[in-house]
Amino acid sequence: MNPSEIVYRGRLAPSPTGLLHLGHARTFWTAQERARAHGGELILRNEDLDRARCQPEFVQAMFADLRWFGFGWTEGPDCGGPFGPYQQSERTAFYRAALARLRAGECVYPCLCSRKDVLAAGRAPHAAEDAEPIYPGTCRNASASAPLPSQYSWRFRVPDGEVISFRDANLGPQAFVAGRDFGDFVVWRPDDVPAYQLACVVDDAAMAVTEVVRGADLLLSTARQLLLYRALGLTPPAFFHCALMLDESGHRLAKRHDSLSLRTLRQQNRKPAELRQAWPPPGG
Ligand SMILES: [Zn+2]
Repeated sequence: MNPSEIVYRGRLAPSPTGLLHLGHARTFWTAQERARAHGGELILRNEDLDRARCQPEFVQAMFADLRWFGFGWTEGPDCGGPFGPYQQSERTAFYRAALARLRAGECVYPCLCSRKDVLAAGRAPHAAEDAEPIYPGTCRNASASAPLPSQYSWRFRVPDGEVISFRDANLGPQAFVAGRDFGDFVVWRPDDVPAYQLACVVDDAAMAVTEVVRGADLLLSTARQLLLYRALGLTPPAFFHCALMLDESGHRLAKRHDSLSLRTLRQQNRKPAELRQAWPPPGG
């Protein structure tokens, strides 16, 4: 595909760690509507990097439940396409190349801290919606010649104090301060798996995605990812973050909300068109 022919490319990027629920469907539907409105393409990417939590039966359910709900994609694990493979577990070579580039640019450093260490020493994040504590910088200035243990992670060094700003296509201007709103973040996990932030950036760039539509819980991740785009010399896409769907008690829908899983709704003979009519607009 000639890049000049690319008008709009959006993506659905579910993770098969459970059954998809109505909250996912709502965000994905916005992605599909935006791709249609722009006369663009919609791709499906299976984000199956978490080997311990991703299950084959959830992959099968993901395809079936998305089709049932009315989603259609022209590229994906089930139908192929020019930017494949479309399952992250088969894209390790792309992620390793990106890590090598970050290492060559000294944008990352080996971190020996356990999750427990970071939880104990890290500062609570400024923004309440981000659950990740701010990394205290323990390994930032460790000697490069010190021997490394068998397990460690690679952590991205954020430019402390820099304001990372972008204009969200739904929520308007956004600005986050590196080192205050989020700290140095893991790009490669101790179990030798790329972290979400790195895989997402590498794939969206390699798959020529022009706009990322996802939940507003990922606004801070977008700030982190913009730093990765810059460090890797890649052009970032546009972003459209959707408000999250809440349950009756005001909590975010999660995969544990089985009653609102697409699978259950389908078994109850609910009609996708009626479920969609009950949704407020994506901004609200
Ligand atoms: Zn560390």
